[in-house]
Amino acid sequence: MAKKDYYDVLGISKSASAAEIKKAYRKKAIEHHPDKNPDDKGAEAKFKEAAEAYEVLSDENKKARYDQYGHQAFENGGGFGGGGMNMDDIFSQFGDIFGGGGFGGGFSGFGGGGGQRRVKGSNLRIRVKLTLEEIANGVEKKIKVKRKVQAPGTTYKTCTTCHGSGQVTRIANTILGRMQTSAPCNVCGGAGQIIDKKPADADAQGLKVSEETVSIKIPAGVVDGMQLKVSGKGNEAPGNGISGDIIVVIEEEQHEKLQREGDNLHYDLYISYSDAVLGTSKEIDTVTGKVRIKVEAGVQSGKILRLRGKGIPSINGYGRGDLLVHVNVWTPKTLNKQQREFFESMQEDEHFMPKPDSSDKSFFEKVKDMFS
Ligand SMILES: [Zn+2]
Repeated sequence: MAKKDYYDVLGISKSASAAEIKKAYRKKAIEHHPDKNPDDKGAEAKFKEAAEAYEVLSDENKKARYDQYGHQAFENGGGFGGGGMNMDDIFSQFGDIFGGGGFGGGFSGFGGGGGQRRVKGSNLRIRVKLTLEEIANGVEKKIKVKRKVQAPGTTYKTCTTCHGSGQVTRIANTILGRMQTSAPCNVCGGAGQIIDKKPADADAQGLKVSEETVSIKIPAGVVDGMQLKVSGKGNEAPGNGISGDIIVVIEEEQHEKLQREGDNLHYDLYISYSDAVLGTSKEIDTVTGKVRIKVEAGVQSGKILRLRGKGIPSINGYGRGDLLVHVNVWTPKTLNKQQREFFESMQEDEHFMPKPDSSDKSFFEKVKDMFS
């Protein structure tokens, strides 16, 4: 099923201000809150949908990417690709939306619908620079990261305040009325465990920084600014908690010869006046190596040669873009005496007069064809 537009989900227009986005989300979150709609899967889905929309539209960068690329901007692990946001992620937004009291606190917030939740280590964010060739072909990168891991020799014991549940129950007055909420235990921070013994070089949570090399598989077709998630490779959590993630932010390096436009590539080919008249063949750069192309005798400047499938593969896995070679005829700025005499003799020659016919389309008609 096609994903619903984030603006439609929140019931706002594309020009909505940050305050309006926040207000709209707050309204939806209250309406579909799982505590108000127990066992209603439809409400839960809507609640998650609204949270996801807010997560994107409240973040200037993500909003800009969404406005430009739509849902595609976040596919293939770029954010919510897999199973969408989980409840913990959503509740951790609430500190921001509803202000302090009642929500938030602890390591990463609110204990959802009962049962012990495991504390999650924090995420690491790294930028990865990729060449156009790497983007076109997909690449595996080995990246050095500094992540927190449990220091050898650290032992944990059950927290005596929450008896290992990680949560304390309390009655809170919230915007939803009087509710019994479970909040993370502030002695153990929700982990259910506290430090028993730790070596001198570990921090207060029994963690220490370790330098590791992480291998990251980057699929073909990624876009500058896209974020990929590598699950479980971020900072470790204390005790029996789960590791955070690495968020990989893609940076695309400018190619010397090729310009990217979505999945298509553009190449400016300059040929001499004589080559245009006589025809030639030229070697050009592509993302999969050099290719020799034929330029017909009598080619017009501005002609676009389309090399099908020589562009960037679609991130969604549907086909590949094309490489569009723009022919530019290079006109010499100076001439020697002999050359000048030749061109002067041709100046009034009928054969050299422009006679464009329907096959010599204007630039705008060519562009129209390209996108039709
Ligand atoms: Zn505790």
